Amino acid sequence: MTTSPTQAANPEQLASHFDVLIVGAGISGIGGAYHLKTQLPASSFVVLEAQESFGGTWTTHKYPGIRSDSDLHTFGYRFKPWVGPPIATAAEILAYMDEVIEDNDLGSHIRYGHRIVRADWSSSDNLWSIEAEKVATGELVRFTANFLWMCQGYYRHEKGYTPEWLGMSDFRGRIVHPQTWPEDLDYTGKRMIVIGSGATAATLVPNVAQDVEHVTMLQRSPTYFIPGRNAIEIAEQLRALKVDEAWIHEITRRQILKTQDDFTRRSREEPEAVKAELLAAVKMFLGEDYDIETHFTPKYRPWRQRIAFIPDGDLFKGIASGKASVVTDEIERFTETGILLKSGKTLEADIIVTATGFDLSPLGDIDFHIDGKPLVFSDTVTYRGMMFTGVPNMAWVFGYFRASWTLRVDIMADFIVRLLTHMKTIGATRVEVAVPPKLKDMELSTWIDPEDFNPGYIMRGMHLMPRRGELRDWQHTQDYWNEKDEFPKIDLDGEEFIYDAAKVPA
Ligand SMILES: Cc1cc2nc3c(=O)[nH]c(=O)nc-3n(C[C@H](O)[C@H](O)[C@H](O)COP(=O)(O)OP(=O)(O)OC[C@H]3O[C@@H](n4cnc5c(N)ncnc54)[C@H](O)[C@@H]3O)c2cc1C
Repeated sequence: MTTSPTQAANPEQLASHFDVLIVGAGISGIGGAYHLKTQLPASSFVVLEAQESFGGTWTTHKYPGIRSDSDLHTFGYRFKPWVGPPIATAAEILAYMDEVIEDNDLGSHIRYGHRIVRADWSSSDNLWSIEAEKVATGELVRFTANFLWMCQGYYRHEKGYTPEWLGMSDFRGRIVHPQTWPEDLDYTGKRMIVIGSGATAATLVPNVAQDVEHVTMLQRSPTYFIPGRNAIEIAEQLRALKVDEAWIHEITRRQILKTQDDFTRRSREEPEAVKAELLAAVKMFLGEDYDIETHFTPKYRPWRQRIAFIPDGDLFKGIASGKASVVTDEIERFTETGILLKSGKTLEADIIVTATGFDLSPLGDIDFHIDGKPLVFSDTVTYRGMMFTGVPNMAWVFGYFRASWTLRVDIMADFIVRLLTHMKTIGATRVEVAVPPKLKDMELSTWIDPEDFNPGYIMRGMHLMPRRGELRDWQHTQDYWNEKDEFPKIDLDGEEFIYDAAKVPA
């Protein structure tokens, strides 16, 4: 063990102190651990993870076909080349993460089966006290830490979001949420309805189509998709030239990011042209006679919700084969044998899958207190979607919606490492962000602008999230392309950073 635990006063409860405590061993927490270990090798740190293994999203989701919806060159870390096809299965992502843990000896820093239940900040000690429950035994263990690196994700893993529909208890078949897919679910030869049209539904439908009698994707309204070959041409070409994988990773990342940047900008500047291109791609798979207007033409402009990539058009191939179909309608009620729609039509089913999204959980369901007072997270203002007013020595890794989440894992790690180094240099044990007095009249609004991005789980949980200011510094901009250049230039002696030590002379 490379960490430096100290003994607690109470011998019955082993208390351990670490410079940094990372919450969660998903792609964010493992990335954070890598950067701490490589960039700040002298620091002691621990990763506490509620599950019995690493991976977060990629271990808890077990529905058929579970895979990424963005490419792994950018969903992978910048420091470890991705050598497979761009869209990867959960198993492939876990194998990649496993290599990161093994290659960097991160395993000894991770404590699995530890669910953090409470975090207390004390301004007299400038320390966090953390209470974690050992999931297997219920035993409580305590830790102290100087800094909390929050990598707990953004949604509740135990249970997904399922709306309450009339008559659900009347249905005689099985109702399943993809987040808690039962191991014993046998859908061979069964009739299945998948409610929803996001990335999860789009993954599930083609992956069960072979085995079920029929699968219907039931959506209230259509979603945009990008079908395409599950390959990146430039990566293939460079590989054929036997170019080093580290170079291929870097070049491919740059090309993907440039393409995504152009796409995001065009979605704003010429949404009609982008829409036409997306629909033309769907038409190529489904043919001229298919009713694309009803089933695949959303009412919103492209990029207001995340757009899933459909590898090799598998969803559309499933539909074209007749084993899968799409119904665009609203649910009136569940019946004993299926679903009655508002149009009056009925859909018969043995299994109904509610691919209806997440339950937002901003701070990992941890009971936070600052100097004895409960933290009301929604009263805080975010500093660049990383830190929060009134919450000292803490940063939360919340990735991108329109680009791969992990891009932010890497650039936030650089920022946190720089901040911790700066604190050490100036002899500070506490840092907090505060809106400077000159901005005291800055207008505050919701975490994100629903006009810009409005997925259901964010809209349902917006009241739980910190507030956003009018100025860029006080927003989670979702803008990787500028943040990658802005973060390294953040002036840590700027007036928004309040330390307990005098600023160091140059
Ligand atoms: C099916 C699916 C597909 C996705 N595909 C993509 C994609 O292709 N590209 C993309 O960019 N994004 C994708 N996302 C979003 C995805 O969740 C993130 O990109 C990323 O995996 C989040 O990683 P994370 O480590 O921040 O959080 P998580 O993966 O949620 O991991 C958080 C970890 O923290 C642990 N934890 C939480 N609270 C506590 C606590 N109190 N105590 C101890 N441990 C705790 C959890 O157990 C979990 O292991 C997808 C999401 C889903 C559900």
